[in-house]
Amino acid sequence: MQVLRSVNETRRAVAQARAAGRTIGLVPTMGALHDGHRSLMRAALIDGHWLVVSIFVNPTQFGPSEDLAKYPRDEAGDLETCRRAGVSAVFAPSVDEMYDPQAATRVRVERLTDHLCGPRRPGHFEGVATIVAKLLNIVTPDAAYFGQKDAQQLAVIRRMVADLQMSVRVVGCPTVREPDGLALSSRNAYLSPDERRRAARLSQALTQAKNWVAGGMTDAAQIRAAMLALLDEAAPTRIDYVELVDAGALQPVTRVSGPTLIALAVWFGATRLIDNITVDPGEIPG
Ligand code: AMP
Repeated sequence: MQVLRSVNETRRAVAQARAAGRTIGLVPTMGALHDGHRSLMRAALIDGHWLVVSIFVNPTQFGPSEDLAKYPRDEAGDLETCRRAGVSAVFAPSVDEMYDPQAATRVRVERLTDHLCGPRRPGHFEGVATIVAKLLNIVTPDAAYFGQKDAQQLAVIRRMVADLQMSVRVVGCPTVREPDGLALSSRNAYLSPDERRRAARLSQALTQAKNWVAGGMTDAAQIRAAMLALLDEAAPTRIDYVELVDAGALQPVTRVSGPTLIALAVWFGATRLIDNITVDPGEIPG
């Protein structure tokens, strides 16, 4: 497995793999790799790609009061995880390698960022879209893999790729969860044992919502209120939001009548957790 630190050596390594007849896959990450990240790697390897995993804690997607400084970092462990998974190359650049101090260009995806995490994390999705556009330009993958865990991020990236006419296939992968339902996240490491136990309530509230919709409940305000009551029982420090939006444009709905994203963000202590589920009343139960 190659460990690439510079843009130039990454371009060269990718060109060599292409010359050898390989297609290129990319899994962008911020490191502290867990089974959620591994599932993206597996999906890319099953598709047969020469796989690049990027590890870069992107400063521009963190707000001034967010956890950039204490974001978990374990490069040695991450490289071992990638090696074991069968990754072809890890691209782990420095901040200086990725950002020219003179840089004046940012990618902003409108409308899809109007709700959910958009207003609560000003500048976040601009930071995400900009770094992902840069990674796609450097690695020029045939396919890039992202988790449904970050559903709004996935929607923003799909829109950006379509709008900028980038020639990459964006692949969304299902959320990997702990046995009690908690979505795997690098930030779960911040939780105390008691917060960790209570955090299982997030996925329970989402699963309940899916059951209510399957049972014929369609009123968004009613579903939201019932979810808030469930979440409250877990005594979170703060509920940032519970929202029902249409799964395509991510605009609020009053009624669940088609594919709908139910998403939430909840604080336990200083840790902000997000999760989501997509429901569709027209879906034939499997
Ligand atoms: P991050 O390192 O948190 O920026 O995440 C890198 C990628 O892994 C993103 O596409 C995430 O959506 C994805 N990811 C994170 N957690 C999970 C999970 N529990 N299941 C599936 N994908 C995930």
